[in-house]
Amino acid sequence: MDGAPDAGELTPPDRTLMGPGPSDVHPRVLRAMSTPLVGHLDPAFVEIMDEVQELLRYVFRTDNEWTIPVSGTGTAAMESAVGNLVEPGDTMLVATNGYFGGRMASIAERAGGDIVTVDAPWGEPLDPVDVEAAFDEHQPDVFGFVHAETSTGVRQPDVPELTGIAHAHDAYVIADCVTSFGGVELHVDDWGIDVAYSAAQKCLSAPPGASPLTLNDRAMEKVLSRETEPRSWYLDLSLLEGYWGEDRAYHHTAPITNVYALREALRMAAEEGIENRWERHRDVAGGLKSGLETMGLEMNAADDYWLPSLNAVRVPDGVDDGAVISFLLEEYDIEIAAGLGDLGGEIWRIGCMGHSARPKNVEYLLGALEDALRTEGYDPERTPTPASDD
Ligand code: PLP
Repeated sequence: MDGAPDAGELTPPDRTLMGPGPSDVHPRVLRAMSTPLVGHLDPAFVEIMDEVQELLRYVFRTDNEWTIPVSGTGTAAMESAVGNLVEPGDTMLVATNGYFGGRMASIAERAGGDIVTVDAPWGEPLDPVDVEAAFDEHQPDVFGFVHAETSTGVRQPDVPELTGIAHAHDAYVIADCVTSFGGVELHVDDWGIDVAYSAAQKCLSAPPGASPLTLNDRAMEKVLSRETEPRSWYLDLSLLEGYWGEDRAYHHTAPITNVYALREALRMAAEEGIENRWERHRDVAGGLKSGLETMGLEMNAADDYWLPSLNAVRVPDGVDDGAVISFLLEEYDIEIAAGLGDLGGEIWRIGCMGHSARPKNVEYLLGALEDALRTEGYDPERTPTPASDD
């Protein structure tokens, strides 16, 4: 190679992040990230680790001792949960009513599990009747579902009913709480969830890189009594216990700065109060949803299982979804996202998460979207055609 590359100064654009994550990061969290590093085994850092674990328990609503930030993004936390709980020969029942259930199934398959599925249309939650039928038919060892499906905008209701079915069959429940943790009502202990995981960059508004995970004693007993080692060394929870458990011995070098960021973001959640935070997300996203509906747009999920943190909106006929996304980015510096998987081209995904869940952002977005839709030849002020009687 000839000479050193000159990449120039880093000047990313100043976006308003209203997509499926990352969300806008609060200046307090950014400031925490600019504080000096200490070593990952420094007594001061060990104290920070304890604080982070306690704050994670608060937001998860759990007393689980085994509550840690996994080094990596949400998928690393997903892989830790599934890859440690599922052993070769175990059967895992996975919900496939969205993109991320499919990812869980791929991970379980790589872990040596036999996969069986329970489905619902992409835009609807699981029906407990179908879950019960799948349990009766397959007798799975592990059941995984997504509490807040970022690909469909569906919030899974009836969680205690689902965990009750699983426990009546002696199975373990893994809940993907990536888009609910810290923004949408979630009670890990009271709802009987054995393992839950999340990510930092959604309703917590920290940068991606250190991802919440919690396991109850029952699940951890299964993990610690495995007959075969998990396929990932890095994410082997029996080894990670040496670092996050009592010993605090070296396993890998923790992403110190991400842990600082997570701590500050969790501290802000605790200051706000978790119930208040859930209410803020509901209120602010409720304003967004009614603004969208007033423009004649239709939500992908029905009101009963609408997910405040991720608003999936159907693209009206004749409108190019990608052109609207590009217009918002280029003209307004706003990020929203397209549909994934089965819903590609059919929906927009508008996040309302953490520090992005502010009335100011919602107003800005609604005005910009109205402009974008007009540019696309859609009249946002039209009212939906009333249903005819015949
Ligand atoms: N699960 C859900 C529901 C998600 O929305 C995402 C990311 O958007 C993930 C898992 C994976 O997280 P990450 O992209 O941080 O690896």
